[in-house]
Amino acid sequence: MITLIKTLLVNITILFSLTYNANIFFPFKVKQILFLKHKITYGLIGAFGAFLCMLYPIEKLGNTHFDLRMIAILVVTLYAGWISGSLVLLLVLIYRTIIGGPFVTIGLVVSILAFIAAVVFRKLFLTSDSKLMWSSIIFTIYSTIYFVCIFIYVPILNTAFYFVYFGIFYLTFVSMVFIIEHLIKTNKQIEEMMYLDKLNMAGQMAASIAHEIRNPLTTVRGFIQHLAEDTKDKQFKRYSPLILDELDRTNKIITDYLNVARPGKYHLTRLNVDNVLHDCVELLRPFASYSNVSISYHRAGRHWINGDEQYLKQAIMNVIKNGIEAIEGQGDVKIEAKENPSANQIVVTISDDGKGMTHEELKKIGLPFYTTKSKGTGLGSMVTNKIIREMDGMIEYESEQEKGTKVKISFPLDHKKLQ
Ligand code: ADP
Ligand code: MG
Repeated sequence: MITLIKTLLVNITILFSLTYNANIFFPFKVKQILFLKHKITYGLIGAFGAFLCMLYPIEKLGNTHFDLRMIAILVVTLYAGWISGSLVLLLVLIYRTIIGGPFVTIGLVVSILAFIAAVVFRKLFLTSDSKLMWSSIIFTIYSTIYFVCIFIYVPILNTAFYFVYFGIFYLTFVSMVFIIEHLIKTNKQIEEMMYLDKLNMAGQMAASIAHEIRNPLTTVRGFIQHLAEDTKDKQFKRYSPLILDELDRTNKIITDYLNVARPGKYHLTRLNVDNVLHDCVELLRPFASYSNVSISYHRAGRHWINGDEQYLKQAIMNVIKNGIEAIEGQGDVKIEAKENPSANQIVVTISDDGKGMTHEELKKIGLPFYTTKSKGTGLGSMVTNKIIREMDGMIEYESEQEKGTKVKISFPLDHKKLQ
């Protein structure tokens, strides 16, 4: 029994330490787009893990060979995809064949089955909110087939051993998923912190000069408007609206920037998100139909959050406006609000079928002055992100070129005083 625990610990340590090391060099991210280089790296790390597990097997009852290599196959395939998974599998198959013995075939079959199980369930696993539940389901299905295989082909060994082996298998697998999810979350928080730092810098710099610019600007605007009313100069009369437009645009940029810089001016109250969405849609409907875009929003009940109504409207309208502006020709912008009870959140999804963004463009969205529009300010998304964070919300962008963009904004639900 002591040797069993010792080898088990060795296997578990191998898997955990490789997971941590992989995360240090290639931080795990949500819905990360993996390049071939990354896929191969994750595959090789997994393969190395599986190899070490096989080198220090838990138990060699008779000529059998029990270890936790399947976890490496499952986890790598589930998170990094079939290319990485097949690298792990390939190495496992080669090394298991080299080890040899009467149970080679069954050893190979159960390894391949782990890979197949992971490929089959990958999509469901990755898109689900409860990874732990799905890892349990995958384990149950796989271990049942695994058990049946060894029950039929390997003369029954020791019932207690099976219990320990499958128990540890389950616990290690679930803990690995838990740790990876935790690392993904931590990495995201670090990224957010770095982003907020950039915002702060941009904000402070802007705040210091914005006031100085705004005051003379207001005076200039007033004079031009006043002079344009009385003047007989045709040129001046003709071009004054243009000057005023440009002045207003400059003023808007400064206001947007000040919004980022000015912290703590939010008046949080209990809000019904659905009303806010409805108002935003109605306000933007004329702009949308002018751009040949139809907006659809179906009210789905009442969802209460804590937020500042004016700011929230500004944030949501920024996103919808970007959606409309991304559509060339005709198109649709869809707005949906759905409750996610397990996370106690309301998730607002704003999707458009516009031109979408490349992976590089997606990374830049929200950075100050990033714009691809001739009349854009490149401040809209930055202000939006800031407002949403201020209300304890989260914003995520998903986009595919030529297909469109999906923006998911989530807020914690406020269940107090439920009506
Ligand atoms: P602006 O709208 O003034 O350009 P934003 O910060 O709102 O500034 O947006 C920055 C850039 O992000 C846009 O110029 C555009 O290239 C890109 N973008 C934002 N939303 C979308 C979208 N829904 N579809 C495609 N591109 C988008
Ligand atoms: Mg914008």
